[in-house]
Amino acid sequence: MSATAPVIAIIGGGQLGRMLALAGIPLGYRFRFLDPAPDCPAAAVGEVVVGAYDDEAAIEHLVRDAVAVTYEFENVPVKSALAAATRGRIAPSPRSLAIAQDRIAEKDFFRACGVPVQPYAAVSNDAELEKALERVGVPGVLKTRQLGYDGKGQCVIRNESALGPAFASLGRVPCIYEAFVPFEREVSIVATRAASGAFVAHPVCRNEHVGGILRVTVAADPDITVELARDGERHVRTIAERLGHIGTLAVEFFVVAGSLVANEMAPRVHNSGHWTIEGAVTSQFENHIRAVAGLPLGDPSVRGAAAMVNLIGEEPPLEDLLRIGGVHVHRYGKLPRAGRKLGHVTVVGREYDDLLPALDTLRTLTGVSAGAARRH
Ligand code: AMP
Repeated sequence: MSATAPVIAIIGGGQLGRMLALAGIPLGYRFRFLDPAPDCPAAAVGEVVVGAYDDEAAIEHLVRDAVAVTYEFENVPVKSALAAATRGRIAPSPRSLAIAQDRIAEKDFFRACGVPVQPYAAVSNDAELEKALERVGVPGVLKTRQLGYDGKGQCVIRNESALGPAFASLGRVPCIYEAFVPFEREVSIVATRAASGAFVAHPVCRNEHVGGILRVTVAADPDITVELARDGERHVRTIAERLGHIGTLAVEFFVVAGSLVANEMAPRVHNSGHWTIEGAVTSQFENHIRAVAGLPLGDPSVRGAAAMVNLIGEEPPLEDLLRIGGVHVHRYGKLPRAGRKLGHVTVVGREYDDLLPALDTLRTLTGVSAGAARRH
C-alpha cells in the first residue's frame, strides 16, 4: 500500500478494527489504530499508535492527517471522541457514543423513538432500589448502567430479597433494573447510515447467546416473519435518523409474542454482522468505511443464507474447521482465555437448509448444542 494512500484512523485495535481495515484496504485506504497493546489484533493490518484511549497526545498523533476518524468499541471515552472531533471529522458522532454508553439513556432514547422497551428504572441508592422493585417487580435483571458487555456486570433477580445483595455485588455503582423478558428468540439488525441520509439494513439475524455471550448468528432464518423484519428495520432507521448516526450500528431485540422489544444498541460494527463479510453483497465493515469516508453505500442483501459461529475461549484445530465444506475461518490472533472471542467461522449456502450440516458440525466443535443456547 502506497505511503500516500489516505489514512482512516480508528480508536481501538481489536478484531473489529482489524476487519474494518480488511474491508477498507481494497478501497485504497491505509489504517492507523489507537490501542494500549502494540500486538493488538489490528496490528497485522495497519500502524498502531500505542497509548491509552484517553491519552490526548496519542489521539493527536492518531488523527493527524486522517481523512476520517472512527472507533471500533463503544466504551471509547466520550472526551476522547470529542477531542478527535475538534481535530477533524469523527463518525459516528460522540452523541451516538454517549447514549450507547449508558443503559438508562439508551432505553429513554428508544422510548422517545417509539421503539418498545420493557419496564425499567434507574438504581443508584437503596431508596431507588425499593422504587425500582415496585415498578418492575420480579423476575428482573440488574445491570450496571455503564461498561457492561457480553453479559458482564449483570444479575438475574428471581425473588425480591435477592435485589439488595445483587446491588452490593455490583459495587453499588449506578445500575438499571429491568424486567426479565421471557423471549422466544433474540434478533438483531445491523444497518448503516451515510451523511447523505442514505440508509441500508442487513436482513434480521437470529442470535443465540450462552451466559450473555453471542455464540451463533443465523441470517435469513425462516422463522423471521416479514412483519418482524419490517418493524425491526423501521425501528433501526428511526434510531439512526434521530441520532444523526453516520456509520454502521446494531440494535439487539428480544422477540416476545411475535413482537420486538429493544434490548440495546451498539454504535459500531457488531459481532452479529460478521457473517456479512462473505454472506452479504456488501459487508457491515465495508459499509462502515464507505459511510465514514463519505462514499456511496453498498447493497446489504444476503447472498442466499448465512450463519456464523463464534470461537470463544479456545479454538478447535484449524484443520478440523477447514474440513467442513464451504466454511470461512477468521482468527483474530488473540491468546486463548476463558470467555474471550478468539475468532469466528461463517458458512454460506443457497438456502437455510444448506447451512444445517455445517452448522451442526460447528456446534459440536464449539460445544453449543442446538436449543441449549439461552441466557443464564
Ligand atoms: P446485554 O448485555 O444486555 O446484551 O445482555 C446479554 C444477554 O443477556 C442478552 O443477549 C440476553 O440473552 C440476556 N438478557 C439481557 N437482558 C435481559 C432481560 N431483561 N431479559 C431476559 N434476558 C436478558
